[in-house]
Amino acid sequence: MIKHIDQLKKLISEPKKIVITTHRGPDGDAMGSSLGLCGFLKGIGHKVNVITPNEYASFLHWVPGNEDVIVYEGNEKEADLITKYAEVIFLLDFNDLSRSSTFSHSLSNSFATKVMIDHHQNPDKTIADIFFTDVTASSTAQLVYEVIVAMEMKRNINKSIAECFYLGIMTDTGSFKYSSTNAKTHRIVAELIDLGVENTKIHDLIYDNLSVNRTKLLGYCLNKKLLLYPENNSAIISLDAKELEKFEFKKGDTEGFVNYALAVEGVRFAAFIAEKEGVVKLSLRSKGNIKVNEIASKYFSGGGHTNAAGGTSEISVNQTIKNLEKIIKNLK
Ligand code: 5GP
Ligand code: MN
Repeated sequence: MIKHIDQLKKLISEPKKIVITTHRGPDGDAMGSSLGLCGFLKGIGHKVNVITPNEYASFLHWVPGNEDVIVYEGNEKEADLITKYAEVIFLLDFNDLSRSSTFSHSLSNSFATKVMIDHHQNPDKTIADIFFTDVTASSTAQLVYEVIVAMEMKRNINKSIAECFYLGIMTDTGSFKYSSTNAKTHRIVAELIDLGVENTKIHDLIYDNLSVNRTKLLGYCLNKKLLLYPENNSAIISLDAKELEKFEFKKGDTEGFVNYALAVEGVRFAAFIAEKEGVVKLSLRSKGNIKVNEIASKYFSGGGHTNAAGGTSEISVNQTIKNLEKIIKNLK
């Protein structure tokens, strides 16, 4: 860690062209860590671009620095050119280039020094030069904050940057309740509040700012689409393309739905399945020692954390449910 801190400190000691990127389907931690780091690096004189592989939910568009984000899908030429001339590339909140989708070619062709900051298991050590990876960290935003503090550059974190990190930690810890939340997380969050973060404001922007369609879609899922398997302590919610269309689905509308299935009494394994843009996507969650990342990688070409993972399925929603029902029967 100390060796890598020194390397990074040296790397950013002079103004450079920097690209920050994150995983496909960027969530609060992906955007919070990326835009927080972006604000910090710009503040010390670098030229920085945040490039996301694809579009992200509109409830993240308020995040400081959002106006400068380039979405790769649809802006390939511009993004490829910026990436070609980048001297440093930060890979945040992912550790495997398959998570970058179509942007991955440009990233692997680049000669830039690559720095990975991430909290997922089994990082691909061939895709970066400098690593800050810690699976015990609540979020990548927390790790980025810790790296800045370890470089003795905390004075360069202003309120906007602190808001970004708060967002990342808050969303990846389910508002400070997942098992990844510990005393250190709370200490860091306290420091962010000391730096000016208005915690209630960030919560409101993310959780109390829901569209009517999303609210009704949630009601529909809970009332009509919740499958319960009490003998296997499991629950599944699913939506096909037609149902999403009926509720005028927008990116991010189903974020967190899986947690309602997990919150039912007795449930220790929950899945949310939805057919989006022609792909069947799964969100898996668990309590205790059910390792959903292993299920995601074994059956759904995915991965993630022990209690929160995701993947995709090549077959229909209904067939995916049938396969999942078989997997559920063998849960320990
Ligand atoms: P979500 O269910 O919120 O989409 O994803 C939960 C976690 O699962 C993410 O933080 C990420 O670590 C992981 N994850 C989700 N989808 C995929 C996927 O397609 N591939 C991999 N490797 N991980 C995923
Ligand atoms: Mn994360």
